[in-house]
Amino acid sequence: KVSEKILKNSQVSFYCGAIVSYSGSKEENYSLEQMLTHVMYALAKAKEYPGNKIWFFDAELHKKELQENNVELQMQRALNMGEFELYLQPKVDPLTRCLKGAEALVRWRMPGGVFMSPGEFMPVFERTGFSSRLDQHMLQEVGRLLYNWRKQGLKPIPVSVNLSRRTLYEESYIRTLEWVKENYQIDDGEITLEILESMAFGNLIKANELLEKVKNMGYLISMDDFGSGYSSLNVLAKLKIDELKIDQAFLRGITADSREKLILETIVRLAKDLNIPTVVEGVETADHEELGRSLGCDCAQGFLYSKPMPAEDFTDQFMKKGGCQYKFQISK
Ligand code: C2E
Ligand code: MG
Ligand code: MG
Repeated sequence: KVSEKILKNSQVSFYCGAIVSYSGSKEENYSLEQMLTHVMYALAKAKEYPGNKIWFFDAELHKKELQENNVELQMQRALNMGEFELYLQPKVDPLTRCLKGAEALVRWRMPGGVFMSPGEFMPVFERTGFSSRLDQHMLQEVGRLLYNWRKQGLKPIPVSVNLSRRTLYEESYIRTLEWVKENYQIDDGEITLEILESMAFGNLIKANELLEKVKNMGYLISMDDFGSGYSSLNVLAKLKIDELKIDQAFLRGITADSREKLILETIVRLAKDLNIPTVVEGVETADHEELGRSLGCDCAQGFLYSKPMPAEDFTDQFMKKGGCQYKFQISK
């Protein structure tokens, strides 16, 4: 009771990892070391989610641990073997339905042709620090793509790449930004870096210094998934960004008179007052598009227009058919 009261009235969070039978056998003999590893794993999982949580290391978590260990074992080899592939999803003007740009998204094609999506491996990459290596690879792929478009006589459209929380803090990533710009003759504003607002938590000044530096190099900055976590208007006001992407959870939660709608309206209006263009993410239906349009969002992205597709298909389907002039036809 006392701890309940403390937890309710303070900023203290309670996390706990526990172990239950996971092998299904009646007689289990875990060594102390094994139990500790499992409990620490459960604790780490508990800490990934906000709020007060107890996580049990059970059969399901055991399976997840094995999968994550496998990802960790395979990732470097996969990078060397070129298994991380560049997919692109269109960004569209909701008023004209013309193509405005694209977002680069990674797909892991494992041996045997099985695909793994980022949701399954990014958490492991983040934990191990491998995510900045992957981000570096994706940036190089995008630089090469823009270069090849130009070589084929296609006028490049702006492309965004995703960055993990720590990526911009890596010196090697900054060097790759310089190299890509020069080596692939990228024009200013052609590549946008999609950052997460958590990159600035507790480090707003340093984060802004880094953003300033890469903006001076000719990259644009977008804030991804705004409104998904502990979004702060302070971060929005202070970070020097060129675009705001509104998390798709807003569209999922919206009904005619919902609070989500009111919040969404307010965010878009605030961004407009700050002169920051907005992108509405997760547009799946014509109603979503209409909502984005009526709120004044500058750009829309989602399955309504297209799912992410391999870069070569994107080139054939959109770039060779007009690039920025390409107009999406939406069937009712
Ligand atoms: P994100 O950057 O917010 O990307 C948008 C995600 O939403 C993509 O998932 C995309 O496939 C999905 N999506 C787009 N439109 C719709 C829609 O209409 N409905 C639904 N339900 N989903 C839609 P994906 O490709 O699985 O990527 C998930 C996340 O993984 C990304 O979210 C991004 O945070 C991360 N990610 C992807 N590629 C990279 C990368 O190269 N580096 C880093 N650091 N993170 C990446
Ligand atoms: Mg993104
Ligand atoms: Mg997003």
